[in-house]
Amino acid sequence: MFSAVAPDGKKSTDMSFLIPCPNCGPRSVYEFRFGGEIQARPAITASDIEWTEYLYNKKNESGPQEEWWYHRSGCKLWFQATRNTETNEVIETRLP
Ligand SMILES: [Zn+2]
Repeated sequence: MFSAVAPDGKKSTDMSFLIPCPNCGPRSVYEFRFGGEIQARPAITASDIEWTEYLYNKKNESGPQEEWWYHRSGCKLWFQATRNTETNEVIETRLP
């Protein structure tokens, strides 16, 4: 598990934290792009209301959340992560 901890071992109050890329290992969050919450894509025959819900309405729940991340300054890999949205603790990362 990785959380917001400064190099001197003290807990950090800023938004910096580490994300373990499945390909490269732990890296600063600033090397990544957030790709949004993981959610099931509607069927091709879904209504406009269902597509609008999928595209614009996010759960934004407090606590562990399943997300997409992209290692834009590294290996260019898209992967999935479980992150606690209260603490920014990255509990797990994995390939889709
Ligand atoms: Zn990487």
